[in-house]
Amino acid sequence: MKKRIVKVGDIVIGKEDDIVIQSMTNIKTSKTKKNLAQIKTLFKLGCKLVRVSIDNFKDVKSLKKIVTNSPCPIIADIQYNPKLAIAAIEAGAKGIRINPTNITDQKWFIKILETAKKYKVAIRLGINTGSLKNDIETDNQIINFLKKYILICEKNNFFNLVLSLKSTSVEKTINLSLLASKLFNYPIHVGITEAGDITTATIRTTLLVKELVMKKAINTFRISITDDPTIEPTIAKKILHECGIKQKLTNYISCPTCGRCKINLKKILKKIKKILDKNPSNLIKVALMGCVVNGLNEVKKADIGFYGVNKKCHLYYKGESVGIMSVKKTIKKFKYLYIELINQKNLFMQQ
Ligand code: SF4
Repeated sequence: MKKRIVKVGDIVIGKEDDIVIQSMTNIKTSKTKKNLAQIKTLFKLGCKLVRVSIDNFKDVKSLKKIVTNSPCPIIADIQYNPKLAIAAIEAGAKGIRINPTNITDQKWFIKILETAKKYKVAIRLGINTGSLKNDIETDNQIINFLKKYILICEKNNFFNLVLSLKSTSVEKTINLSLLASKLFNYPIHVGITEAGDITTATIRTTLLVKELVMKKAINTFRISITDDPTIEPTIAKKILHECGIKQKLTNYISCPTCGRCKINLKKILKKIKKILDKNPSNLIKVALMGCVVNGLNEVKKADIGFYGVNKKCHLYYKGESVGIMSVKKTIKKFKYLYIELINQKNLFMQQ
């Protein structure tokens, strides 16, 4: 279903094939400086929106300073207390996330809507299955619960909505997101709630995002990892990239290495990745291989790459051999040729 376009500050959610990466700080919001530092890092790494938790009025006071100094729009995450939602909007949050399972008083809910309307703020109705009562369990019951709140919003002429239905199960989150996307024309925020450590969260979120990208039922997402949130945006970008939503990342392959490996590929990859990450381009293919077995074909197919030969590397550029040279010389030459390639491609794109 074609989605309404929802604006969170200057960030647009709901455009097809433009999936907005977001994250959330994990520091008490009252700690203004530390939050701002984390927000700036998240933004630099690719987050377009950052959420902060608002638990008391001390947080709201800090939020005011955060929004003025943040490089991206800030979303206030509110639980239980509707007064905090109103105060967060007045403090300058460009979006608020409320959990309808714990803001149940309709009068207050409507007051939030009126304030959000006045300040042109978006609201995410974010339901986590973990916070639902036991009698709301099936997909239909959960959807009907959400629908009740959507109808209140619409009755009060509030349409600046984003919806999310998160569960710890990948399958349930897919089903709920698909249902919500089919029934309502509001953008869908996607994520697994309590997704686990890096490995588990990455696997779960990739399965989720891949399925929902294919079915066009995702407009924004967060990979929630039990770790420092600043690791999230890079993984989120990579997930989107692998799902066919092009990001500013270089397409690279590297072999897992085996007993035939002729170089310390793990160590070399680290150095090459630094070059790629500093100068990302989704127009370039790079191949980094341990030996000739699969190496020869892969480096010939790539724009630039090498394979290991007796502690040295055989470097290829645009399918042609550049020569066999020491690892040190290979990295230096690789960097030079890679930057040259970027300049050529950029020039070509400008023509
Ligand atoms: S390319 Fe060579 S080193 Fe890498 S996995 Fe294949 S056989 Fe092993």
